[in-house]
Amino acid sequence: MVNVAVIGAGISGLALANTIKNKAEVVIYEKSRGFGGRVATRRVDDFSFDHGAQFFKAKTVEFQNYIQPMLDQNIIELWKAQFIEIVNGEITNKRTWSNDPSNYVGTPSMNSIGKYMANGLNVQLSKKVEKISKENRWVLYDENNEILGEYDWVFSSIPPLQAQQIFPGLKVIFPGIPEYQMLACFSLMLGYEQPLELEFDAALIKGFDISWISVNSSKPSRDKNYTLLVHSTNIWAQENIDKDRDWVKDYLCDELKKIIPIKTEEAQYIGLQGWRYANIMKQQKGFEYFLNNENQIGLCGDWFIQGRIEAAYLSGAHLGKEFLSYIG
Ligand SMILES: Cc1cc2nc3c(=O)[nH]c(=O)nc-3n(C[C@H](O)[C@H](O)[C@H](O)COP(=O)(O)OP(=O)(O)OC[C@H]3O[C@@H](n4cnc5c(N)ncnc54)[C@H](O)[C@@H]3O)c2cc1C
Repeated sequence: MVNVAVIGAGISGLALANTIKNKAEVVIYEKSRGFGGRVATRRVDDFSFDHGAQFFKAKTVEFQNYIQPMLDQNIIELWKAQFIEIVNGEITNKRTWSNDPSNYVGTPSMNSIGKYMANGLNVQLSKKVEKISKENRWVLYDENNEILGEYDWVFSSIPPLQAQQIFPGLKVIFPGIPEYQMLACFSLMLGYEQPLELEFDAALIKGFDISWISVNSSKPSRDKNYTLLVHSTNIWAQENIDKDRDWVKDYLCDELKKIIPIKTEEAQYIGLQGWRYANIMKQQKGFEYFLNNENQIGLCGDWFIQGRIEAAYLSGAHLGKEFLSYIG
């Protein structure tokens, strides 16, 4: 059996590994302590926040079929949120989400999805791939320059700029890669012991440096403590990603107060996450993944298609299918 390294245990890396696991020996290296990548959950004291992806849709039959067992086992559920849109301070749209289209969330938290997908796979957590070199085979190194392993094939599911930093000569093999630019995002997390009286569970915001507010605790099967999750716009985050984090937190709290009646100083917990590579602005029209048979490398990730969970899944699964057709 060929042996394969996959870098990253986000949705695309896990989808790829699941697609090829019966025909190849697969090891996944993941730098963080958990599965799922940007489909993430932070727990602090009695508060829980899905601070990356908020919810997802399944537009293709292929992805609908893939998620059906997760629905059957309550790994994911529908989020029937009270949804509003606020444009320049005015509510312009108000509706309750139902089945058309369905908006799903992981339960009891978004990171249940990554845990489910990682089941049965060899995932090496807290193992950052720092460098890759091509000898007879691909050799992967960690941050201490220790060899992690040698592989026939190597697949990257990490953002494009990070992939270029660790792969020698990637731009020569895949000249189009610098065109894929990702944008940053900040997630502001607020935890309250007493519920706030807001007239929505999820709000899309326009006209401020905040793009999204959700009552995280309104999602199904959540803890009882009241949690709010706020996302900055990508544009504002891109301009401020290297600023002092306390300053960012204070700025976003002030911005939030302009949109909803809230006393952020009464929150029992205020946290911030900065995502340097959060999203890709518009839907891409090129490839769903990259595969190079001669060098025995492949790349996948949402950034090939769109910044969505479904796109990440399709990119990884389709790369896996084409790889299987090569190795027979
Ligand atoms: C704030 C935010 C909100 C979002 N909201 C939504 C939403 O509501 N709905 C939706 O559908 N999508 C949303 N998305 C997008 C969605 O999260 C992504 O499309 C999807 O999770 C991307 O999966 P991926 O596998 O391509 O990449 P990632 O999830 O980024 O996976 C890459 C993995 O590689 C690991 N890694 C990176 N470098 C290394 C290295 N050198 N060595 C080892 N491991 C490494 C990372 O830790 C990560 O786990 C959101 C994203 C963010 C950040």
